[in-house]
Amino acid sequence: MGVEIVADDGADHDNSCFDDEWRPALDNELIDEGRESYEIREEDEDGEEEDSFSADFYRCGTDWSCLLPAHEEGKKKLKQANLLSMWGLKEPKPQVLSPPPPKRLKTLSVINPRESVSPNFGKSKNNSTVTPPSSNRPRICPFYKRIPGTPFAVDAFRYGSIQGCSAYFLTHFHFDHYGGLTKGWSHGLIYCTRLTARLLTLCLSVNSSYVHPLDLNTEYVIGGVSVTLLEALHCPGAALIHFRLPTGLCYLHTGDFRASKCMQSYALLLKQKVNVLYLDTTYCNPKYNFPSKEDVLDYVVRVTKDFLKRQPKTLVVVGAYSIGKECVYLAISKALGVKIYASASRRRVLHSFGWSDFSSSLCTQAKDTLLHVLPISSLRFETLKDYLKNFVNQYAAVLAFRPTGWTYSESVGKQLDQIRPISKGNVTIYGVPYSEHSSFSELKEFVKFLKPDKIIPTVNVGNPATRDKMQSYFQEWLKG
Ligand SMILES: [Zn+2]
Repeated sequence: MGVEIVADDGADHDNSCFDDEWRPALDNELIDEGRESYEIREEDEDGEEEDSFSADFYRCGTDWSCLLPAHEEGKKKLKQANLLSMWGLKEPKPQVLSPPPPKRLKTLSVINPRESVSPNFGKSKNNSTVTPPSSNRPRICPFYKRIPGTPFAVDAFRYGSIQGCSAYFLTHFHFDHYGGLTKGWSHGLIYCTRLTARLLTLCLSVNSSYVHPLDLNTEYVIGGVSVTLLEALHCPGAALIHFRLPTGLCYLHTGDFRASKCMQSYALLLKQKVNVLYLDTTYCNPKYNFPSKEDVLDYVVRVTKDFLKRQPKTLVVVGAYSIGKECVYLAISKALGVKIYASASRRRVLHSFGWSDFSSSLCTQAKDTLLHVLPISSLRFETLKDYLKNFVNQYAAVLAFRPTGWTYSESVGKQLDQIRPISKGNVTIYGVPYSEHSSFSELKEFVKFLKPDKIIPTVNVGNPATRDKMQSYFQEWLKG
């Protein structure tokens, strides 16, 4: 799959919610499925590179929709200021004071809270100095993680303090988005949903004075910019972020999302034209036309029931990331009327969602239910065979589900009954195309609904050929 994993996130792995079960797989588990799509390199870290996405972007002038692979002309490097002036914006100043807000809006300061931090900040429990996020060389924040005309960055924590940035937005709690955030973070306020905020303090011990939770569907004024978070239908706590600048320009950053028809009834999206769309392009390829989440859940339940009829002594396992895919095991739990077993560390995370129905479905003893959640990296024959040995008196077989869009195959398409599991001995593994990212056709429908002036892809941007292809899709979708 051409996966490239950035080795060091700088994260503090000695966190209370990461117990030994997670530790071996930690780096992989905290990355969601979108991560697997990075083809060449994670992102264009270095704005100076001749063949970087930003270089292409700048070379293309205002008609950047014709982005092409690296070419000879335009050797001269352009700077971010050119991009801003291109969009009729002034370069953001390092600190922006909030103008008096309209009365109905909530106004938040973007002032760095250093002064309000407790005296112990920067020290760990044993009073040793907290190490900086990473000892790697500082990276340069790529332009597509900045919101022009604002002091904002989105999902850009691995670059340390970003010049001119005083507010850091986090779309959701997946490692490839929060990477770089540690308990030593002190570069500025972090804005995110309440659920994500809880995870930042619970799992990463980020100092809460830096974490500023926002409610969904509520308009806030931050540094003079109206900001609204909208449900992204990705993992719990994931949000689309809508920015409206004083100039009237609107930007929508999707973070990771699964586009859905219901988003076409979001009042804000109906009311205001989006000028620039930062789009999750994980599956921006027509070969990814996977079925709806609901169809996959029905299928998973059907397979489970059939399997249990044939072999009643079956342990059912669902693979999951740190967060995400909860609906898969919840659907089985409801259909069979059984509880869900998850490790203590995972339970802490799941309880933090504050979903009472969901919390009451969890149980603390593995022997009390046939439905277990394990890290998705555990879905290997040998690992599951070993796991089954713990329950030798209870179960004779394992039925496991690996729910990710990457299991989608064009030959199966939406005909889920065509899926063939892989079996070895008494272990059977089903790869099911349950995706929390948009399929190609869902992306297309969303873009056609939104009709933005420009689209900036945020995933698969490391490869010029892929970028070119995506731009051709965008042009097609925005015609007429
Ligand atoms: Zn994600």
